[in-house]
Amino acid sequence: MPDLKGFENADSLHEARWWEPASGGKLHCYLCPRHCHIGDGQAGFCFIRAARGGKLYSLGYARPAALQIDPIEKKPLNHFLPGTRVFSMGTAGCNMGCFFCQNWDISKSRSDQVHSSHVPPEDVVLLAIRNGCPTIAFTYNEPTIWGEYVIDICHAAKENGLNTVMVSNGYITREAFHDIYDHIDAANIDLKAFTENFYGRVTLTHLQPVLETLEWLKQETNVWFEVTNLLIPTLNDRPEETRQLAEWILEHLGPDVPLHFTAFHPDFKLRDKPRTPPETLHAARAIAREVGLHYVYEGNIHSEGGNTSCPSCQALLISRSWHDVRRNDLQDGRCPNCGLLVPGRWTNPHGRTPQKTENRAREIARAKYDHLNL
Ligand code: SF4
Repeated sequence: MPDLKGFENADSLHEARWWEPASGGKLHCYLCPRHCHIGDGQAGFCFIRAARGGKLYSLGYARPAALQIDPIEKKPLNHFLPGTRVFSMGTAGCNMGCFFCQNWDISKSRSDQVHSSHVPPEDVVLLAIRNGCPTIAFTYNEPTIWGEYVIDICHAAKENGLNTVMVSNGYITREAFHDIYDHIDAANIDLKAFTENFYGRVTLTHLQPVLETLEWLKQETNVWFEVTNLLIPTLNDRPEETRQLAEWILEHLGPDVPLHFTAFHPDFKLRDKPRTPPETLHAARAIAREVGLHYVYEGNIHSEGGNTSCPSCQALLISRSWHDVRRNDLQDGRCPNCGLLVPGRWTNPHGRTPQKTENRAREIARAKYDHLNL
């Protein structure tokens, strides 16, 4: 376990959930399947859950290390309020050890190693409103590990008519799953490969818990969710593996869960692999469609593979360029040509934010967060 520096004043910290005392004076964190046993003054694998004086603390609570406005298509979510802005935030740390991490500057840092501002949950919501975002996304690093903050932001978001999105690796325990996802409107789950060998060697975790999370989302929640598979040359891009992954999605999640194949670029500890050629993404998309998935996308490249077409009559429904929506022809969520209802959330279920709240959001943003340059 990493040593914990800069952790003297527990009074100002937020006590964590999902832990219990364990033998030898350690604390057992059961938020994710890593099940860390954490000694006093130490942090878990994710760096941001730490033990002191017989209690576990969430060091990421109200300490975002990244705040940004993104298009919802960047999460990626193609069937959730297309063309809207999303207030995106992440903290330090991660519960996976991916060698190819593309946000490693924050995900591989302790909370005291990143520049962060103090932003309580209710102010996150006001900042989102101030920036014209109907949705808040927990993204950039793994949001499961700061689940306490996520839940409190969700409560404040609902009170003010905003949606919430998890962009997650899906590595969460059964004990914590509903505590978090019962508050969430949409999610994108990374299915990083379809072999235990890849998960074990390249992410330092396991495949099965991620598959279970996807099944729980499908069977036990109303969360709208999409799946992303980042294709890395020679590590997880074999056509047989892509076929198995698509077949598993078809059988366990159904044909209407959107699947995004995205392109890798060399980063962090994986710089000896080339960028994913566009042909690999085209081939993967063709396989998944042949298997029977209705909505299969390509990401991180310029191609027609970002468009949404009707699986029934093949009419072009939503035309995209990178993360921009160029044209959306859906009519009340239906294909204008054949009337097929396309699964997704096409209008904001929570309605409009009251004027009084918008005024308060303007005041707070000006008074407290001018330095964030949002
Ligand atoms: S959330 Fe962090 S501390 Fe808890 S089990 Fe997972 S890696 Fe360990």
